[in-house]
Amino acid sequence: MSVKAYGAHAADKPLESMDITRRTPGAHDVQIDIAYCGVCHSDLHQVRAEWAGTQYPCVPGHEIVGKVAAVGAHVSGFKPGDLVGIGCIVDSCKQCEDCDEGLENYCDGMVGTYNGATEDAPGWTLGGYSQEIVVHERYVLRIGHPEQQLAAVAPLLCAGITTYSPLRHWNAGPGKTVGVVGIGGLGHMGIKLAHAMGAHVVAFTTSESKREAALALGADEVVVSRDAAAMAEQGKRFDLIVNTVAAPHDLDAFLALLKRDGAMVLVGAPATPHPSPNVFNMITKRRTLAGSMIGGIPETQEMLDFCAKHHLVADIELITASEINDAYERMLKGDVKYRFVIDNASLSA
Ligand code: NAP
Ligand code: ZN
Repeated sequence: MSVKAYGAHAADKPLESMDITRRTPGAHDVQIDIAYCGVCHSDLHQVRAEWAGTQYPCVPGHEIVGKVAAVGAHVSGFKPGDLVGIGCIVDSCKQCEDCDEGLENYCDGMVGTYNGATEDAPGWTLGGYSQEIVVHERYVLRIGHPEQQLAAVAPLLCAGITTYSPLRHWNAGPGKTVGVVGIGGLGHMGIKLAHAMGAHVVAFTTSESKREAALALGADEVVVSRDAAAMAEQGKRFDLIVNTVAAPHDLDAFLALLKRDGAMVLVGAPATPHPSPNVFNMITKRRTLAGSMIGGIPETQEMLDFCAKHHLVADIELITASEINDAYERMLKGDVKYRFVIDNASLSA
């Protein structure tokens, strides 16, 4: 079927309206009418070829929510009308150790929701800035939030799981001091989730103007990271720091704040490397510098259920598809509180 989408024909071209093709649902497929799609900084990195290997046309979008339109003959878990989501994964090998453990995000054969290898035309996956998507039932998530919150649920599918997963893996909870660096789409969810898990949360931002907002999101303290004196006061008190910054920066400034055995987890994925940290900042306190990528399907469902139970959604600004190029420029300036979400009904305009 042919559907409307928004994408780019080259790295230096703006996104524009285009027609794309979706496959007819197979026996295990779910076809989804996309209601909303969040705008992740990864979309911008990919569509502008800041990461290697972007294929064009590129239709980004991996924070997808909507309603089931149709299901294949062997699908029993979903029916038309169900509220569902699709995150960053639309396929994987389904037979490796990672897939067996529900960690499809670490499968070597993981297929991303856009720019991933597929037999569908045009040969790579096309994402959620589109009217419909067809995905194998294994990668479809169930949404338990009220339907009125659907737009604000969309960012949970990437920003939510990408911060939830390291917070869980490194045991954020009562008695733990957790830092969140960079208060953008990911970071604002990191604050909300770490707070809901019961941790003491410190937000690190380069923007003094985000201080009050970070406290309102659930941070117990806010530190402006450009203020050297304020940073020095934070020394050696963190169990965990989740770093979401989308640009290369001095990691030592944050590593020095970890307790013995503390860990800083990088989730931000800048186009060029960070300057190498000082090894002495790591060996002297047995500190860990780690990375984490989104989350597997079972943990993504767990995160959605946790958010529904704790009444957590993203803080969003709803836009039309034609506003996407401006939204990217504003995201680069940090001018978004805290996630743009496309109203996919605007694609037909
Ligand atoms: P975003 O909304 O643009 O937020 C990034 C935040 O980082 C900004 O709001 C800003 O916060 C801070 N920042 C940006 N440039 C900075 C600089 N030069 N120096 C210091 N701080 C800076 O982006 P996002 O959607 O949250 O994504 C963040 C990063 O995570 C991107 O690189 C994205 O590709 C990556 N990502 C990774 C995964 C994964 O699985 N690991 C998943 C999704 C996204 P302040 O104003 O508070 O300083
Ligand atoms: Zn993302």
